[in-house]
Amino acid sequence: MEKSIEVIVIGAGINGLSAAALLAVAGKKVLVLESNDAPGGAVRTEQITVPGFHHDLFAMNLGLFAGGPVMAALGGHLTAHGFNLVASSKPFCSVYPDGSMLGVEADASATIKNLTAVAPEDVQAWEELTAKLGLWAPFLIGVLNSDLPSVAAVKTLWKAHRAVGTVGLYEIAKLALQSTRSFTDENFISPKTKALMATWGMHLDFAPDVSGGALFSLLETIGGQLFGMVIGQGGAVTLIDALVQVIEANGGEVRCGARADQITVDNKRATGVVLATGEAISAKKAVVSNVNPRLMPALLPAGVAEEANVKRVEKFQPGLATMMIHLALDDLPPWTATEARTYNYVHIGPYIDDMAQTYTDAAAGRLPESPTLVIGQPTVTDPSRAPEGKHILWVQVRMLPLKLADGSQWDEVAEAYADLVMEKIEGYAPGLKDLIIARTILSPTDLERYNVNLISGDSLGGSHHPSQFFFLRPVPGWGRHRAPVKDLYMCGAGTWPGGGVGGSSGAIVAKILS
Ligand SMILES: Cc1cc2nc3c(=O)[nH]c(=O)nc-3n(C[C@H](O)[C@H](O)[C@H](O)COP(=O)(O)OP(=O)(O)OC[C@H]3O[C@@H](n4cnc5c(N)ncnc54)[C@H](O)[C@@H]3O)c2cc1C
Repeated sequence: MEKSIEVIVIGAGINGLSAAALLAVAGKKVLVLESNDAPGGAVRTEQITVPGFHHDLFAMNLGLFAGGPVMAALGGHLTAHGFNLVASSKPFCSVYPDGSMLGVEADASATIKNLTAVAPEDVQAWEELTAKLGLWAPFLIGVLNSDLPSVAAVKTLWKAHRAVGTVGLYEIAKLALQSTRSFTDENFISPKTKALMATWGMHLDFAPDVSGGALFSLLETIGGQLFGMVIGQGGAVTLIDALVQVIEANGGEVRCGARADQITVDNKRATGVVLATGEAISAKKAVVSNVNPRLMPALLPAGVAEEANVKRVEKFQPGLATMMIHLALDDLPPWTATEARTYNYVHIGPYIDDMAQTYTDAAAGRLPESPTLVIGQPTVTDPSRAPEGKHILWVQVRMLPLKLADGSQWDEVAEAYADLVMEKIEGYAPGLKDLIIARTILSPTDLERYNVNLISGDSLGGSHHPSQFFFLRPVPGWGRHRAPVKDLYMCGAGTWPGGGVGGSSGAIVAKILS
């Protein structure tokens, strides 16, 4: 007799799939329901410009996954199902208006050489921070992978206390509250080094003056040097395909085109799901939602939602919006700073004040005149993504308005705004225009069309500002990955430890249910 379904996962994002794969390998019967025609959510690879050019439409950098708990537990299974990582020895650089650049390399002595050429006054501070992060990283990663609050997290903090002492622990706490501007002002002198670090805050929604940005900026900047940067060989979708295959090989199922319309609740516990088609499916043990928490009230029966005061999660604040520009190219951009051709990411702020202005404009609903750009050059590391000798460019435009204050719609302004972005890049790589074979843009509205979780184009699944981070994510009282209904669990970017492809929240839920 076939085993009945024990756990239903709603949503085949990286966290839903991670939870399902871990549970399936642990012997649980799982069913993943995905409303889209393909799994992956914000991890998707398509030949979106022209055939032969494989673009990661959204996430590309898989560093969080590579260093996370799912890879540690299932790495062998995933590799057996065709998932391979390729590492860049030159993770990222920033380019500046005077034609110079500053690059971080996996070889620390090479980074120091780069720094010595551009900002020798910051070399000592960089070395000190490298040493500190080397000491702190195991504890920071331990907390990131633990439920909050939890005994495991307290144990990690206790070990950290033994290793770094009270002052060391207070320094880490300070980082979690400090803005990037304040942190870089404390540590560096050159505006170039400060900007190099601050652009990482902009990957999340930490503009230079937002409390909490220092932690992420430090982790990613010095972490890039300590741990390098990795992408999926052939595209990030290979990770999704491998997770699906692990689930299926272990008796589970991933069903696409299956939108969950309602979570059924009996005797105050989640018992299953009703699909948009009307089909009802029961789960013996639990329902796991990989849905943005703000969408949770609509999934619960009205009476239950009211009783559990679920509606307050609608106050969970989004981050600002993102737009993607995908280019198929005849060659890599002709960067004025020629070495930039060899890096996985090229950042253009250019400086801290520019990034602060960008954020202020976007938050007020205005299109920033000088958008912050994360320019991915994946074919430098993985040439298999384009025909021989050709390249792709992955341009992430960070910090855009969720809604435009002048009443216009993203569908109306996106192409013209992409032209402005291209002009900005052209200033740092004159001649890029002539190398473009094809361009496809995905506006914030397109992001939400691809994935309902990316509400209004918020690529983060909810702001990471300290007021809704750590044990406060998504809202006070909803921590520990439990929704306010028994046997209903939550994972995904809207839960701790937030956005990114780490898969940690899925792993935490799988641990609870194993
Ligand atoms: C443009 C962009 C670039 C990014 N770049 C990076 C990067 O380089 N590195 C990195 O680490 N992170 C990056 N991120 C962030 C990262 O991709 C996301 O935080 C992460 O993938 C979110 O995973 P998730 O588990 O929350 O699920 P999601 O990706 O949000 O997927 C959830 C799934 O649930 C489905 N769903 C929702 N409601 C229902 C329902 N009712 N029934 C059935 N299915 C439903 C959705 O269709 C979706 O497929 C990027 C994000 C974006 C948007």
